[in-house]
Amino acid sequence: MSLGSWLRDRPAFLERIYQGAEWLFRRLDPLFKRAGYDRANRWLRKPEDWAKQVVFDCRMCGQCILHSTGMTCPMSCPKNLRNGPCGGVRANGHCEVKPEMRCVWVQAFERSQKMNVYGAELLWIQPPVNRQLEGTSAWINMLSGVDKETPKGWQ
Ligand code: SF4
Repeated sequence: MSLGSWLRDRPAFLERIYQGAEWLFRRLDPLFKRAGYDRANRWLRKPEDWAKQVVFDCRMCGQCILHSTGMTCPMSCPKNLRNGPCGGVRANGHCEVKPEMRCVWVQAFERSQKMNVYGAELLWIQPPVNRQLEGTSAWINMLSGVDKETPKGWQ
């Protein structure tokens, strides 16, 4: 078992790390603002990509919703669903597209049940992902608010 999958099965621990990281980034926000979010994005995107890839198999969508999906990256779903599962989950809980793989959304549900703070967020309806943010730092996008901007007409 890889370090990432071992950690992903400890969502309560990961949500505590997430809370600590959010607290830290919000405190560093004045520094990022002064430097400019574009520059801060250049500083952060590589280390963020590396760390989140090791732990979450992150695809750097730039709009991280891990804490709303049982600390399971929704972009690792072969259909890239932000609201899942699709109708094709197999009876054994595996993926319709990749039968050897457990459904990301089955895992998200199971892990959300073990979380103490954000588990209920799994029921939130997520807006479509903004592909223009791909490859950018989700932390900086959270601070600048660009990750909350929804497409025209989205309610
Ligand atoms: S939701 Fe986006 S930023 Fe978060 S781990 Fe998945 S691909 Fe990476």
